[in-house]
Amino acid sequence: MNEKKIWLSSPHMGSQEFEFVKEAFDTNWIAPLGPNVDGFEQDICNYTGAPYTAALSSGTAAIHLALILLNVQAGDEVLCSSFTFSATCNPIVYQGATPVFIDSEEKTWNMNPDVLEAAIKDRLLKGKKPKAIILVHLYGMPAQLDKIITIANNYDIPLIEDAAEALGSTYRGKSLGVFGKFGIYSFNGNKIITTSGGGALVSAEKALIDRTRFLATQARDAAPHYQHSAIGYNYRMSNISAGIGRGQMMVLDKRIKQRRANYHHYVTSLENNTNVSFLPEPSADYFSNRWLSCILLKNYHERERIRLALEKRNIESRPLWKPMHLQPIFQEAPFYGTDVSETLFERGLCLPSGSNLEETDLQKVTDILKEHLTI
Ligand SMILES: *Cc1c(COP(=O)(O)O)cnc(C)c1O
Repeated sequence: MNEKKIWLSSPHMGSQEFEFVKEAFDTNWIAPLGPNVDGFEQDICNYTGAPYTAALSSGTAAIHLALILLNVQAGDEVLCSSFTFSATCNPIVYQGATPVFIDSEEKTWNMNPDVLEAAIKDRLLKGKKPKAIILVHLYGMPAQLDKIITIANNYDIPLIEDAAEALGSTYRGKSLGVFGKFGIYSFNGNKIITTSGGGALVSAEKALIDRTRFLATQARDAAPHYQHSAIGYNYRMSNISAGIGRGQMMVLDKRIKQRRANYHHYVTSLENNTNVSFLPEPSADYFSNRWLSCILLKNYHERERIRLALEKRNIESRPLWKPMHLQPIFQEAPFYGTDVSETLFERGLCLPSGSNLEETDLQKVTDILKEHLTI
């Protein structure tokens, strides 16, 4: 195991992050809140076009606060993409509500609009109107937003976009995260840009983001003493983390270019092999940041064979997300759909995708793939 480790997706700093952090030290702004937090929020608004942003301690916290602001309570139901990371749906359970999982479609791997509509009709028949829809844009690929927004509007159910993996991706030229009532981003260590850990909640409604900031800082009423008329959370981003974020925003476009070039490298090197397939952008409406480059192999055994062959050479790869409806903890939760996300999980593999990969790293990965793939 002396070969150089090739990571799936590792942090990649630019040149200015440390300057913003140093400024925080020089001015002793070592606290949650501060000028870097304000600056980072402004950067996110400018970049995404979201009118209002609250920088938070994680993407998970952002989803949790969105649900609280939509008044999701014990006994409620929330519709949610099944094919995702558990952080998408755990906050539903924090609120005592039930996730209702929706399968994927094959064009984008995201929520299937037809299944979504069928699920809404069925839940209404059963006498319960879902409180919200959490739509994930997985691996940076935009979901079929036009259809999903139409359904959300027709049934008057608020939409939360989980764009944790999709900062910088666009649909019809607009940033993901700004289509729903709320959008969330994550800046965890493995995401396209990182603050070492952090997240953001965005909305077009000022009152909602004001309320987010209030709840995220322990819900202090306006009084000289500590007074509370609501339950609060300690969910704000620190001024140090936000300093890293400000530097990272300066290189975000570069990072997207680099990740898209990784995807392009894999496609051009492997497209002649009929046992490998990719996830192309379905039309010019879809622009993916290509957070992770993913391939589908012919079956589970081939996927594991390839994964282990890479691991043997100290290269990290990872099966696609295991759908939430197949997770032991969510066994009891309702699920609508067939085997689309299940098949993606069985056959799919995420390849090394970091923006800091070198040409020789990519070449090594594709060489090993070519060596082990069934022709
Ligand atoms: C990373 C991620 C989250 C959670 O973000 P954190 O900042 O790690 O809490 C939520 N949803 C998806 C799809 C993610 O990939």
